[in-house]
Amino acid sequence: MAALTRLLKPSSSASTSLLFRRSLSTTTAAVSEIQSQHHQSPNFSDPKPSRNFQWVFLGCPGVGKGTYASRLSNLLGVPHIATGDLVREELSSSGPLSRQLADIVNQGKLVSDEIIFDLLSKRLEAGESKGESGFILDGFPRTIRQAEILDEVTEIDLVVNLKLREDVLVEKCLGRRICSQCGKGFNVASINAKAENGRPGMSMAPLLPPPHCASKLITRADDTEQVVQERLRVYNEKSQPVEDFYKNQGKLMEFDLPGGIPESWPKLLEALNLDDYEVKRSAVA
Ligand code: AMP
Repeated sequence: MAALTRLLKPSSSASTSLLFRRSLSTTTAAVSEIQSQHHQSPNFSDPKPSRNFQWVFLGCPGVGKGTYASRLSNLLGVPHIATGDLVREELSSSGPLSRQLADIVNQGKLVSDEIIFDLLSKRLEAGESKGESGFILDGFPRTIRQAEILDEVTEIDLVVNLKLREDVLVEKCLGRRICSQCGKGFNVASINAKAENGRPGMSMAPLLPPPHCASKLITRADDTEQVVQERLRVYNEKSQPVEDFYKNQGKLMEFDLPGGIPESWPKLLEALNLDDYEVKRSAVA
């Protein structure tokens, strides 16, 4: 996937696009299926693709993209690649980019497309050298330009757009904690949002850490109320158009989260026609 690295450097567009495309795209049955039947629930549970799943998760900060993308990645056997994680890894290094990134991220702004392409290319290249194929992208693309470049170089099969009411998003971001040792995410917020203006009420139990993580919890520097509000504003301005980009391609699956993980996970699997995926997979193994 050296090809991908070069592809994602936007200045080198045409030939690099070709190289990237060669490295990534072999059409799956799933692509044509969602394009021709996008008004219906897609069926991804028939495992006949000639390459692995290439999915994207969209949604506002705090909606749970990381949680559900990571669970699906385990289920489907494809890597979960979160550009926010790549940015945080770079931030925690003493590399030259670190200081520059901290200012941007801690203000809730977006990092430049060039930096993101570079980080993502390196991650994909490292994955390819370990034999990875396919991906679930989380937090990318976040601008129309990112979506257009991704589109030039490979075929995305499905885009899942997770949705949650805004007051709950803010509470979730403020309750988010990460174990500084193992990197796992938790949430200490106990959410009980009232029904109002025709919206149903919503409860979410906290996702508490096991005892060995409890004393090592940290809060992301960009999970303060002020920065979360700015991230939501930036999402609405820059990233919401990406939803329309994929809607126009017939690849967007909207999913309103009905509550926390216990309520939402089975419903998400059902919406993806993956509720019996594990059973089918073990039957053919
Ligand atoms: P996240 O963990 O997805 O909320 O990302 C954390 C931060 O990393 C964001 O607020 C941005 O500053 C930066 N970031 C992550 N992904 C992207 C992207 N695709 N484009 C630009 N900035 C990004």
